[in-house]
Amino acid sequence: MTESSQPAAPFVPGPGESVVVYLEPDAGPASSASAAGSGVSLRVDDPRRPAILVTDQGLTRGDGVFETMTAVATEGSSTNSGTGTGTGAPFRVRKEDSHLARLATSAEALEIPLPPAPAWRRAAAAGLEAFAAGNPGGDAVVKLVATRGPEGAPGGGHYVRGAADVGSDGELAEATEPVRLVPPHLTGTYWVLVSPVSPGLAAARERGLKVLLLDRGVDSGVAERAPWLLMGTKSLSYAVNMAALRYAASQGADDVIFTSSDGQVLEGPTSTVLMARRVPQQDGTTGIELITPLRSSGILPGTSQGTIFAAAQAAGWELGYGPLEPSDLVDADGVWLVSSVRLVAPVTHLDGEEIPQDPEITELLNGFLAEDREPGEHGP
Ligand code: PLP
Repeated sequence: MTESSQPAAPFVPGPGESVVVYLEPDAGPASSASAAGSGVSLRVDDPRRPAILVTDQGLTRGDGVFETMTAVATEGSSTNSGTGTGTGAPFRVRKEDSHLARLATSAEALEIPLPPAPAWRRAAAAGLEAFAAGNPGGDAVVKLVATRGPEGAPGGGHYVRGAADVGSDGELAEATEPVRLVPPHLTGTYWVLVSPVSPGLAAARERGLKVLLLDRGVDSGVAERAPWLLMGTKSLSYAVNMAALRYAASQGADDVIFTSSDGQVLEGPTSTVLMARRVPQQDGTTGIELITPLRSSGILPGTSQGTIFAAAQAAGWELGYGPLEPSDLVDADGVWLVSSVRLVAPVTHLDGEEIPQDPEITELLNGFLAEDREPGEHGP
C-alpha cells in the first residue's frame, strides 16, 4: 500500500483553533444520492491548509453569500435538536433555521446553487464535534460560506441572449428570450468554518459602543428600484462595511450606523439597530415600545432582531418598524446594535454625543435573545 492510499487521520483542532468542513459536491445532479444524502460529501480539515482555487469568484469578485451563527455548549447534553444530528453533539446552534433560511434567500438573489439545508446542518454538526474535541465547553462561531465557484466552471447563472434552445420537436432553435444557463448541479464552493468566540466581545458589550452615523450614499428606496445592488443580501462583498468600521476607528469610535441619502437610519455594517421608548399607559403603568428600521429600506433582516421581537411581543411590548431618523435615536430611552455573535450591545454615544441608556432594557433584550424563539413574522 502506498502512503497516499492510507486514510488520513481526522483533523482535531487544538485549543483556540478553528476547523473547516468542506461540502464537496458529488458528480451529477444535486438530487442524486450521495454520502450525505444531499448531493455533497463532507470533509473535515485544518483551515490553515490551502483549499480554495485562486480563480474562485468568491475571492476574485466577492461573489458569494455567507451566514454567521453561534453555537452554545450544552454541557453533557444527550439530545441536540439544534444541529439536527440526534447524535448528542455538545452544542446547540442558535437560530439555525433562520440562518439557513436567510442563506437560501441570499443565494437565490445571487443565483448561486446551494446544497440543501440538511447538508449544512450536518456540516455544522461535524465541525462542532471536531471543535469540541479541542475546545471542551467553549462556545463557537459557525460561519457558512457559498461562492459561485471557480471562473470558467459550467453554469454560473448567466443569461445568454439568443442561445440555441431545444424546441418541442427536439430540434435546436434560436431562442427568442434570453436563456438562463442554470447550473444543473452544485457548481459553487461551499464550506463551514467553526472558530472560538472572540474574547473581546463581552468586554465591548459591557463598555457600550461609541457610534458614528455614516452616509451609505443610497436612498431608502434603492432596494426595490435596483435589485442588482443586492441591498439586504448577506453577500461576501463586505469590503465597504469593513472600510466604514476602519473609518469609525480612525475617528475614535467603535462602530457605525449607516444612514440613507434621504436621512433614514439603516443598519450597522454587521448589526441591526434597535431603539426603545418607555411609554406611559392609560392604566398608569409604563410600557415599552421597541423599534427597528424599516425593512424595505435595503437592510439585512436580522435573525437576532427577529427572535428578540418575537419574545418582546410575547412579553406584551409594542413593536415598530421605522422609518427612523437619527433624531429618533437621540430622543430614545436606549439604542442597541444586535447581531448573532456580538449579541446585544448598548450604544452610549452617537457622533460624539452621549445618548440615554437603559441598562434594565439591555438586560431584558439579552434575555429575549437567549430565549431563541422562532421569529415567525418578525424573522428574515
Ligand atoms: N446587518 C448586517 C449588515 C449584518 O452583517 C448582520 C450580521 O452580521 C446583521 C445585520 C445582524 O444579523 P444577525 O442578527 O442575523 O446576526
